[in-house]
Amino acid sequence: MGKRVSDLGEFGLIALLTGEIKNNDPSLIRDFGDDTAFVRSGEKILLLTVDTLVEGIHFLRRYPPDAVGWKLVSVNVSDIAAKGGKPLWGLITLSLPPDLEVEYVRDLYRGINEALNRYGFSLVGGNTTKGEKVCLDFPLVGEAKRVIFRDTPKVGDKIFVSGTLGDSRAGLELLLEDKRDYKPHEWRLIERHLRPVARLDLSPVVEKYANASMDISDGFLADLGKMVKNFTAVVDLERIPLSEELKKYCAERGKNPIEYALRGGEDYELLVASDIDLTPYGFFKVGRITSKGKGEIYTADGRRLDIKGFDHLQGSD
Ligand SMILES: [Mg+2]
Repeated sequence: MGKRVSDLGEFGLIALLTGEIKNNDPSLIRDFGDDTAFVRSGEKILLLTVDTLVEGIHFLRRYPPDAVGWKLVSVNVSDIAAKGGKPLWGLITLSLPPDLEVEYVRDLYRGINEALNRYGFSLVGGNTTKGEKVCLDFPLVGEAKRVIFRDTPKVGDKIFVSGTLGDSRAGLELLLEDKRDYKPHEWRLIERHLRPVARLDLSPVVEKYANASMDISDGFLADLGKMVKNFTAVVDLERIPLSEELKKYCAERGKNPIEYALRGGEDYELLVASDIDLTPYGFFKVGRITSKGKGEIYTADGRRLDIKGFDHLQGSD
């Protein structure tokens, strides 16, 4: 039997697909392997990105549809924010099962609209099709004043994150328990998973000061591994910001909140390398780039950290 897509894993599949496409468009600055594609159009740098939410993979039908709509927009805006850009125009493809209630679609669009208003751009077109499950694609075009890649930090740079990590993972676990009642701190964790807020507020800081920047979607360590693939980094575990809600959740269950913060995924906070101190802008300093290398990440006391994170195709986590 031939190899299956799942045998490749998410990144193996991307390697196969990008190997098939040979781009020689001179306006293309970078295509694959970053949060967005970068294209020069006249004087402008355009940022192109697309993300998909699939029922059963990224969300369940019982989740509030307005939250699904909000998240669809937010995860795409997060990629634009990570490049120091601003979102301009969105498109949408909706695959919907024919028996889906109209009320569901209305609520979904209420959430989409809320997000468009919050982030200040428009949905300008789209497409609908029949599908077995609810499947939502959201291509987004943004613009930037300069090009900021995810993997070009400089030796000596400090590493920053824009907010608490691990909350979304705990929220997902709580959601999957499908309890009748949740405590207030549990609700707040669930909110972090269902309604992530793209850090577009920090995009101007990224644009000014970042040497490398990306958003944290696969987990802090997995994403830092991509940023520092040609470097060695040290992470100060004690400085990783943790919410009181996550600490309480973990204390109640005998779990380690740092593990959630390091490997959780879907935080949608920004991960930035800069030679400037970004803490006055609300960032948390969590580490530094110590030398050229091959993606090794160490703790402050010299322990090597395993960067394995969440793989969306193998669902190993
Ligand atoms: Mg990203």
